[in-house]
Amino acid sequence: MKLAVYGKGGIGKSTTSCNISIALAKRGKKVLQIGCDPKHDSTFTLTGFLIPTIIDTLSAKDYHYEDIWPEDVIYGGYGGVDCVEAGGPPAGAGCGGYVVGETVKLLKELNAFFEYDIILFDVLGDVVCGGFAAPLNYADYCIIVTDNGFDALFAANRIAASVREKARTHPLRLAGLIGNRTSKRDLIDKYVFACPMPVLEVLPLIEEIRISRVKGKTLFEMSSILAHPLENNQDSAKQNLMHQHQDNFFTKNKIDNNANPENMYENDYICNFYLNIADQLLTEPEGVIPRELSDKELFTLLSDFYLKV
Ligand code: ADP
Ligand code: MG
Repeated sequence: MKLAVYGKGGIGKSTTSCNISIALAKRGKKVLQIGCDPKHDSTFTLTGFLIPTIIDTLSAKDYHYEDIWPEDVIYGGYGGVDCVEAGGPPAGAGCGGYVVGETVKLLKELNAFFEYDIILFDVLGDVVCGGFAAPLNYADYCIIVTDNGFDALFAANRIAASVREKARTHPLRLAGLIGNRTSKRDLIDKYVFACPMPVLEVLPLIEEIRISRVKGKTLFEMSSILAHPLENNQDSAKQNLMHQHQDNFFTKNKIDNNANPENMYENDYICNFYLNIADQLLTEPEGVIPRELSDKELFTLLSDFYLKV
């Protein structure tokens, strides 16, 4: 199954992608995550560092595909998730679509593209030019990450239009929206009422997610460290910090500190958001071919609402 996660820049695509990838791996799937954002930090919390991009590796080898080995471009990440960063075209020149095309071509040459149960493309969705829509050529499902605000929903609507367009020639469906970093969902609900599509989950602003990004770890790994602090942290200063953080985490999230460590993933309400999304995707949902709103309809829908409050 191929998934393409889209959304406005900074909305939480990579956070969502990494945690969904691990959730799918926890369900026994062999997963590859491909970062297709020129920011090339999609897989940072999975690997803990910025891995070399495909484009950098290709240009270092003068585009001699035969000189590149899988280990040059595919890096093992947390939870057994394999990671690739496509990289970006030079700023102001070149095309994101070319980069994605080269990435898929190389992975096919390396016999890696068909080896995975799930390939997840993490894609920037502000600019829906042909290039940025390229991963939709390979995807079975598109997932859109949004918050409860106008800008992200505007981007979501543009992405919905791209899905509708690609679905004419590809077996592509929109699996649904994921609301992120918002405790309110009134505008999201207004949008999906006007442009029917499923909402897979709505995640609030979670301080631990912000911290996990700074630490270069996913929520699942943080949760595992909290459950097994001694095994995971040999360094005592780090351990103290972890214990301190652990107390805050448990108090704030009302998690039973004495819970059986084996069940930590299941006990952790944040990880459960992602496991729930993974489980929905694994049922191979019908999804939708959306009919996007016109800009005018969208402005009226979302702005009228503000004017009335
Ligand atoms: P994108 O890939 O869409 O550019 P990121 O996944 O990199 O966005 O997220 C941008 C920032 O927002 C990161 O620092 C991340 O830790 C933070 N973030 C994402 N989702 C949440 C959330 N639900 N709660 C708190 N912070 C979040
Ligand atoms: Mg990103």
